[in-house]
Amino acid sequence: MTEPTATAPAPEPEKKLTLAGTPTSPDFIREIVIEDQASGKHGGRVVTRFPPEPNGYLHLGHAKSICLNFGLAKEFGGRCHLRMDDTNPAKEEMEYIEAIHRDVAWLGFSWGEHEYYASDYFEKLYQHAETLILRGLAYVDSLSADEIRAHRGTLTAPGKNSPYRDRSIEENLDLFRKMRAGEFPDGAHILRAKIDMASPNITMRDPALYRIRRHTHPRTGDAWCIYPMYDYAHPLSDELEAVTHSVCTLEFEAHRPLYDWLLVSLDTPNRPQQIEFARLNLTYTVLSKRRLLELVNGKFVNGWDDPRMPTLSGVRRRGFTPEAIRAFCERIGVAKRDSMVDVSLLEHAVREDLNARSPRVFGVLRPVKVVIETYPEGEVEHFDAVNNPEDPSAGTRSVPFSRELYIEADDFREDPPKKFFRLAPGREVRLRYAYLVTCKEVVRDAEGNIVEIRCTHDPASRGGNAPDGRRVQGTIHWVSAAHAVDAEVRLYDRLFSVENPNAEESYLDKLNPASLEVLPHAKLEPSLAGKPAGWLCQFERLGYFCADPDGTPGKPVYNRTLTLKDSWAKIEAKG
Ligand code: ATP
Ligand code: MG
Repeated sequence: MTEPTATAPAPEPEKKLTLAGTPTSPDFIREIVIEDQASGKHGGRVVTRFPPEPNGYLHLGHAKSICLNFGLAKEFGGRCHLRMDDTNPAKEEMEYIEAIHRDVAWLGFSWGEHEYYASDYFEKLYQHAETLILRGLAYVDSLSADEIRAHRGTLTAPGKNSPYRDRSIEENLDLFRKMRAGEFPDGAHILRAKIDMASPNITMRDPALYRIRRHTHPRTGDAWCIYPMYDYAHPLSDELEAVTHSVCTLEFEAHRPLYDWLLVSLDTPNRPQQIEFARLNLTYTVLSKRRLLELVNGKFVNGWDDPRMPTLSGVRRRGFTPEAIRAFCERIGVAKRDSMVDVSLLEHAVREDLNARSPRVFGVLRPVKVVIETYPEGEVEHFDAVNNPEDPSAGTRSVPFSRELYIEADDFREDPPKKFFRLAPGREVRLRYAYLVTCKEVVRDAEGNIVEIRCTHDPASRGGNAPDGRRVQGTIHWVSAAHAVDAEVRLYDRLFSVENPNAEESYLDKLNPASLEVLPHAKLEPSLAGKPAGWLCQFERLGYFCADPDGTPGKPVYNRTLTLKDSWAKIEAKG
């Protein structure tokens, strides 16, 4: 571990923006940090940490914590550690550690040389435990797990002391050393802090510090058969790293007295401060690693990086950008009270970013063939298409046009309702950038399915403009059949069909059966062949899409990130 070093004076904290773009005052955590820096507490240093347990993939809730912890470090001229809280070997795996590295870096944050593992501190944590025993502040308890539970008491009734609570320091030390040496079976004894079984705060009723558990650890192998509890390892890991502000979610509020008790009891040189904030909850989403693991193991989704998952690897594959997620986290801010955030606010941030950055292309999801009878066979013309109207520097590209095209099946109606301005028998529409065409005939097979739509074109409308200024209301996109790239397109909808799946008796019963729709016969403009996985674009009129790693050079696969429609923008406009 690197020794903590003094840092330069902190820059002014950045102003945060609300949705409307007006600056707001610093949140309560930033207020604490500003005050601490002003008063010289912690020597003016700011050291935070992001401490995931490597027992699953990171999700959007973690993104909030990552943006907060790394953001604080950046804003106040400090540093943020990445610490793997790997104290429970039964659930932890290298795969998860690697995914955590990938996801934090992808979000745009760097821990530099400050990557730590709670398991690196096992020896120091053990020594601290002996110190507590020597100070008469910890004891070995030999009650069974059930008996311990029975002694704990309830919210209204105090607990009862264990008959082993008054063991001598010598006996405790001897037993604890034997626990470490592997002389007892799993569960035979635990080490507990000696605090107060009558405390109104159940966390303070002689909490467990160490348990015997024979399990090979991903990093320490079989070196240990006792493992520290989270509530013990966490504050002391913070202390060992000279963390100043230990930011965590609200459920740890009741654990703060224990956090402080350990630092005082061990008379530690560093005194990190635990500060709690409200975790992120999102509508139509579950954000719990345990549940996400259930979704993966139960094959309700296709892995941790399924684009429907709220994991960072899932939303990345879906086409969400780190910029959009950071903007979202900044907008929701941090508060002291739990709340539910509308997922359309996240989608709004993603659309805003994708609208600014993604090239527009033509893709036909459910193709139907159009033959332009008046267009010469074998002829090919190229039309310039604007890459991004939001970004003139993105320029244009050339799109091939020929006699046989594909258009969206939805853009043709044989019997058009009122207000349908697209193609229909006898109707004229604009093929974007190309020509005005009129539908002359519909050809069907024996079963009555449309085989092709036959049209004529107006050669004088080259570029898509009516020569005589006549009004043509509909404009549709198209792809030249001879040049089209065959592709699979995957459309996603919310994974859950209820707003708060967490409130359901069984959240698995509320999975949205229509969350994935696969369109195997899409036709895309030729520029879309061979794009690397993760390439983002907008299929005009249809939404934002990105290339999926399942694609091959011969058959790309595209994910629809989001449709173009933005329900949040409407809510904002109305509100
Ligand atoms: P889960 O509830 O999904 O199992 P966890 O809290 O057990 O998450 P950890 O790996 O311990 O997962 O989390 C690492 C950090 O991320 C912790 O500081 C935790 O408080 C924070 N965190 C986890 N979930 C959220 C959330 N929904 N919103 C904000 N922060 C979160
Ligand atoms: Mg946790």
